[in-house]
Amino acid sequence: MLGTVVLVVSCAKVPYTGRIQYNIIPDSLMRTIGKSTYKQMLAGEAVKSKGADAKTLSKVGRKISKVADKPKYDWTFSLIKDDTMNAWCLPGGYIGFYTGVLPALKNEAGMAFVMGHEVGHATAHHGSERLSQSLTMVGGLVGLELYLKDHSKLKPKQRGLLLGALGVGATVGVILPFSRSHEAEADVIGMMYMAKAGYPPAESIKVWDRFARGSKGIDIPAFLSTHPSTKRRQANQREWLPTARKRYLRNKLGYDTQINLWGPAADSQKTGSESPGSARTGRRK
Ligand SMILES: [Zn+2]
Repeated sequence: MLGTVVLVVSCAKVPYTGRIQYNIIPDSLMRTIGKSTYKQMLAGEAVKSKGADAKTLSKVGRKISKVADKPKYDWTFSLIKDDTMNAWCLPGGYIGFYTGVLPALKNEAGMAFVMGHEVGHATAHHGSERLSQSLTMVGGLVGLELYLKDHSKLKPKQRGLLLGALGVGATVGVILPFSRSHEAEADVIGMMYMAKAGYPPAESIKVWDRFARGSKGIDIPAFLSTHPSTKRRQANQREWLPTARKRYLRNKLGYDTQINLWGPAADSQKTGSESPGSARTGRRK
């Protein structure tokens, strides 16, 4: 029951797809929830703040966040030492990448796509849209306020639903995949963000093949939920590729972003590039 709490239904347009969505949770509240959840997600984790990989994550993060155009977001990027094949972005711009996801990303462009995809879930307010739908299960806005004040008073199921709505449920044992339309939307936004940041968008289609090969049915990351299938999401991305490519050609970075950083034989193997004229530089240690 929502009691005396007055809900304001806001009507917003999703970036790029233009879909009109209805949210009853104010963005400021979502950002506060994001911040609080972030602390909780990082508690007890080994966060790598030094080294080449952490540096690459911050670099890609800065480029993607710049094009995401959310001045009120408190962009923060954490590389977590864990074999889980996962990455997430909480409302408010709190981003976590697990080291286990790096081999599937393979290169900076691959990382830019997954970053763009996760950021896309946040900027398209998918978490609050889901939360709006499942608010009664969490216990209404009272439940959210309780979550912010004192986590221990929430029942584990409520807490799980809340985290699930934010797209980080898998970590707490609740798998609540984003809907097919949310995934397709995040794919499109991710492609546009990466292209606008200067990364070749075709890499976004290859990333899914690497995920499919890497996961082999076990520990399927939340963003590689069974629906939509890899083929289906790739087909959707191919439709958007010409538009993304135009953006990329206007903003193309001055170096090769498809050099193998984390894939098999990362140190010796060099990968193809969409920009044959660009200089090939080795990975800096
Ligand atoms: Zn996703």
